This record gives sequence, structure tokens and C-alpha cells, in this order.
Amino acid sequence: MSENLWKEALKLFAGGVNSPVRAAVKPYPFYVEKAEGAYLYTVDGKRLIDYVLGYGPLFLGHRHPYVENKIIEQLQKGWLYGTPSPIEVKLAEKIISHIPSAQKIRFVNSGTEATMLALRLARGYTGREKILKFNGNYHGAHDYGLVEAGSAATEFNVSTSNGIPALVRNTVEICEYNDLGCVEKKLKNEDIAGVIVEPIMGNMGLILPEKGFLEGLRELTRSYNTLLIFDEVITGFRLGLSGAQGYFNVIPDLTTLGKIIGGGLPIGAVAGKSEIIDLLTPSGKVFNAGTFNANPLSMAAGVATIEVLEREKVYDTARDSANAFSEELKTLLEKKGITFTLNRVESMFQVFFGVREVKNATQAKQSDKSFYFRVHQKMLEQGVFIPPSQFEVIFSSGVHNSHIVNATLEAVKKVITEL
Ligand SMILES: *Cc1c(COP(=O)(O)O)cnc(C)c1O
Repeated sequence: MSENLWKEALKLFAGGVNSPVRAAVKPYPFYVEKAEGAYLYTVDGKRLIDYVLGYGPLFLGHRHPYVENKIIEQLQKGWLYGTPSPIEVKLAEKIISHIPSAQKIRFVNSGTEATMLALRLARGYTGREKILKFNGNYHGAHDYGLVEAGSAATEFNVSTSNGIPALVRNTVEICEYNDLGCVEKKLKNEDIAGVIVEPIMGNMGLILPEKGFLEGLRELTRSYNTLLIFDEVITGFRLGLSGAQGYFNVIPDLTTLGKIIGGGLPIGAVAGKSEIIDLLTPSGKVFNAGTFNANPLSMAAGVATIEVLEREKVYDTARDSANAFSEELKTLLEKKGITFTLNRVESMFQVFFGVREVKNATQAKQSDKSFYFRVHQKMLEQGVFIPPSQFEVIFSSGVHNSHIVNATLEAVKKVITEL
């Protein structure tokens, strides 16, 4: 039972978990026995429709048969060689063929490592030290990324800057998302090596770039000879095969990837112009290494996932289901006269209560997160798992078909009517 496991876990792990957002499910997280398609099966015998999907990576749902077969095939050939393997060439070629800014790539093991490395590359390339990031953007759990970061820390009211040296903090400049005036001022007054941005904010709930924001970042960084880094760890291969950069037609200098490109196994990558990526060791002077970099299992899962995305209508199914879910939610909330904002793009959305507009982290924090949590909890009672935290995103996938959607709509109708 989840309750017993939780009691044990509290003795073993800080706060009972190994990543904070998992503890946001109350009174304790449900433990998962197995998963398949759009469903999670808990150790307590419950079946849940999953709209969290590992917090983003599982764009084909759980245990997609083609991906599973490719992982097993690789597993039977060994899973770590300490030397290159053919599958890393294949995944690199696939990613480079789809992501407009990618000429060369370095594989690492997480989105965290990817952004940490991208920032180091920006410093190595420009010879400058400072980084500009946006309030509430999340780039993983390393020191530079955590200055004014979004994600679960917001949920627990903890500053993400605790434990980070002032020396590091002072190299990170912060602007509000969608505030180009601030960006211009910082680029003018500081020696900025790179501007890192989530082209769509997916770690403060969902927040979209205003028209002209990404284009403005591109122009400004170009005119100040600063690198533009898109953190596409969520959006890469979710907004379409060419990511947010293809979707908005704004091409950054460097792109960080993760989540979907590993098909549910640990992965990260930095891609970009050859002249920048070539600065990495061993061809260049900026160091990176990793025992598990380009590990064959993640590579195999990634190739298989992208192959499915190339040949099946995953994007349509994922978009249609997110659309149906969010539209139903909207209609029901309006009928009840509840104040809310719903932000959505393609297969991802989030609802904020008590606010009429959410265009940056400050506005997101003003939303009624306890009301959101109640909705999450009631949905869970009805067999639908949406994130327990206001500051995460509701994700759909290629396996959220009309059957799954219908069950979801029934649940949401019940929940909102009874609120
Ligand atoms: C999840 C995420 C990361 C961190 O990736 P991990 O694999 O969890 O280290 C970085 N950037 C963004 C935008 C993310 O959503």
C-alpha cells in the first residue's frame, strides 16, 4: 500500500521523495506498480489517466510497443560500452535533421547538465561571464539555473538560491518574462555571454511568449553579440518536430534538449552552430565529459520515439485531446462564474484560478494555488492525474485518444459541478 511505503520512505529520503514535486500529492504520493498507454496503475489497485507523463518526456504514453522493442533490442546488445556506438550517430542525425539551429550536438544525461553546459559554452565562446535568465524560468537544478527559478520550489515556498554562492548569483542577471525593455537595458549595461530562455514557459504553469518577444530576443542578442539559448527541454519535439524554434520561426544559437528525445529514459543534449559546439573538448577548450553520455539505451529510446513522431499522427492526437480537455474545463468554469485564466499551446495547458491574465511568473504566483490543488485532488478521486502543483503543466500525448478523452471529460464535469 502507498501509505506503508510512504511511512518507510519518510525514514529514508528527505521529505520522503527524491524530487520535490512528487511530495506535493497529499496526504502522501500514490506509488505506481506499472504503467501502460495513458494509464498509471497504483499499488493500491487504482487506475489513473495520466496527464503528467513523467513531467513531459512520455509523449507516446507509457510502454509504447515500438519504443519498448527498440529498448529491449539494445538491452540485449549491452547498455554501456565506454566507446561510441552506432545508435548515437543515428539519434544525432535525426535531431539535426529536424531542429533548425542544430548543426552539431553533444549528448549528456539530463536537461540540467544540458543547460549547465550551454551556459559554459556561451562563456567560452564570448569570453564574457554573465548570463541573463528570466524570472520563473527553470533550467534544471544546477547553481546558475536556480537563480530565481520556477518549478516545484515555488510550490514549497523555498528560494531556489539557498546554498548557491553569492559569487555565482552575481553572474546571473534576471528579467521578467516578456519584458524586452529589461533585456535591452541589461545587454547594454552588462557583459552578457548568453541569454537563456524557455521559448514557452512550462515551469510556472504554462506561460506563452507575447507576440514579438522571441523575435525581439533574437534581434537584441544579435546586435550585442550575445548568444541566444533556447531551453527546449520541454518544447523540443513536443511543439512539433522542429520544436518551439520551428513553431515560432526564431532560430537561437544554442538549443538545449532533454525529456522527449530520450523517450522516457534519462537524457540531455546541447545542439547548435558547429563553430560553438566545436569548442567542446576534445576539439575545443570548453570541458565536458560523462560516463553515461550518449548511453545506448537512451539513444535507442530516443531514435524509436522520433521515428514514431515522424510517421504517425501523434501531434494531432495530442493537440486534439488537450484541446478537448481544456475547452470542457473552460466551459464548465465559465458556467460556474469562476475567475480563471487558461493558457494552452498544442499538447500542453494549465489553468490559473482567481487571475485574469498570466504573462509572467509574478502574475502566476498571484493565482489561487490552493484552489488549483483542490481541483487536482478531486480529479485524482475521479481517476485523472493532473500535476499536484499549479506551477507544472498538464501534458497530453499520442495515446490520449477519444476513448481516454471521453473518460476525462466525464471526470472533469463531475469535479467542476461538485466544486
Ligand atoms: C525539466 C527541465 C529541465 C531539467 O531537465 P532534467 O532532465 O530534469 O534535469 C531543464 N529545462 C527545462 C525547460 C525543463 O523543463
